Amino acid sequence: MNQIRPIVELGDPRLRQEAEVVQCVLADTVINIISDMKATLTSTDGVGLAAPQIGASYQIIIIGSRPTGRYPLAPQMDPIVMLNPKFIATSDDCEKDWEGCLSIPGIRALVPRHTNIQVDFQDTSGSWQQLNLSGFIARVFQHEFDHLIGHVYLDRVESSHDIVTEKSFQELYL
Ligand SMILES: [Zn+2]
Repeated sequence: MNQIRPIVELGDPRLRQEAEVVQCVLADTVINIISDMKATLTSTDGVGLAAPQIGASYQIIIIGSRPTGRYPLAPQMDPIVMLNPKFIATSDDCEKDWEGCLSIPGIRALVPRHTNIQVDFQDTSGSWQQLNLSGFIARVFQHEFDHLIGHVYLDRVESSHDIVTEKSFQELYL
């Protein structure tokens, strides 16, 4: 039975821990976490979710870009579940763009990220997969990956002037 879980918010120490490697991809606990993550992400306007955000300190993320109220220009894709992900930048290009986080309500900021990355991860059957990501999807990946190492996007902001409220963001940039 999958269930929507409350989102852990900034200030909770669980967002600042390094998440554990998933040793047994097919374990019931892991399958339950993934189905709860899917249900929880679907219940929000988010485009990605990391397991620590529902209080599960494991290296699991979902990239689920779709146009939502929070991200009206986000590309549509089938959600991808990634376990034990790693990545490298495949070019020197970086770009700044707006991010928000379900764990940090009410705030948006400009965050520099690698434009092009190569990602290695295990899928839900445990097989290793490799994907090249760019632009917005690469950004979502890097944001969710940060949650697995105890970082949040505000740690990456270059200037406090790059932080705005959600209300200002909606008025000025959408
Ligand atoms: Zn986040």
